Amino acid sequence: MRQALAAWPLSRSPRLTKSSINDLLDRHGLAPSRALGQNFLSDPAMIDKIVRLAGVTPGDKVVEIGPGLGSLTLGLLDAGADVLAVEIDRYLIPALTEVVESAAEVGATSSGSVRVLHADAMTVDWSTELGDKPAKVVANLPYNVATPLVLDLLSTQPLLSSFLVMVQAEVGERLAAEPGSKRRGIPSVITEYWGRASVVGRVPPQVFVPQPRVDSVLVRIDRADEPNVDAPFDELSMLVRTGFGQRRKMLRRSLSGLLDEESIAAVDVAPTARAETLDLEAWGRLTRQYCSASD
Ligand code: SAM
Repeated sequence: MRQALAAWPLSRSPRLTKSSINDLLDRHGLAPSRALGQNFLSDPAMIDKIVRLAGVTPGDKVVEIGPGLGSLTLGLLDAGADVLAVEIDRYLIPALTEVVESAAEVGATSSGSVRVLHADAMTVDWSTELGDKPAKVVANLPYNVATPLVLDLLSTQPLLSSFLVMVQAEVGERLAAEPGSKRRGIPSVITEYWGRASVVGRVPPQVFVPQPRVDSVLVRIDRADEPNVDAPFDELSMLVRTGFGQRRKMLRRSLSGLLDEESIAAVDVAPTARAETLDLEAWGRLTRQYCSASD
């Protein structure tokens, strides 16, 4: 029998729970795909927390990548957002449509709207889809594309002003890692170039159907008005990728094809240091040095 969406609380829109998710999967003949990272949120309180931490207010434009069965979409609609929901799995779309339409029927999502786009978020033409209004990204991201997608959106879509994303704990800690941390890597430096990232919550496996094997975290990234260091992005990105490409090596070795030892030392960076110890300013100095040497 078809299960009603659970009321949560009575004054607000219905939410998906474990039983309504299992019911939707059964009725639509679906099995969660591991390859597509399908772990569906089944905890209304967690959804409220995500929407609150994302700072979504009525009329906000929100991009949700991977809406799945619509757990988070309902929370976003409830907050009055206009949601662009990008889902790769065409088999999920009838179930997702059913969920958002039933919420609209009970009149719970009066102020928000949703447009479902069946597409791979890695290949969407964002400039066409986003228009010219700033938007927030709010998503429980598929694990297999989380890092490249966030870095690509930060680097190419200036209208995306903030991100509140749920990712595997290790991925989230890497996005927000400070210099000197063992998690410091390419994602940390690239993210810091464009904005400020912080881990704002931990998420246990129990809030998902099916349960993943690892913990997740919520990461908030706020885009800065200007890059956080005065250095061209493409060159900085190339140096950072080269430096971390051989992260156990000292910079004089890992960057040897780009900068010699004297040039590294000349901008107050120890040639014997390793990539993970450098702050963004140091990467900026190395980049400017590289650019002036190759002029
Ligand atoms: N937002 C839903 C929730 O919280 O219950 C589902 C999140 S689930 C972790 C990730 C979703 O992303 C799945 O629905 C999956 O099909 C979708 N997905 C995976 N790869 C994708 C891609 N490249 N582009 C768009 N959606 C993708």
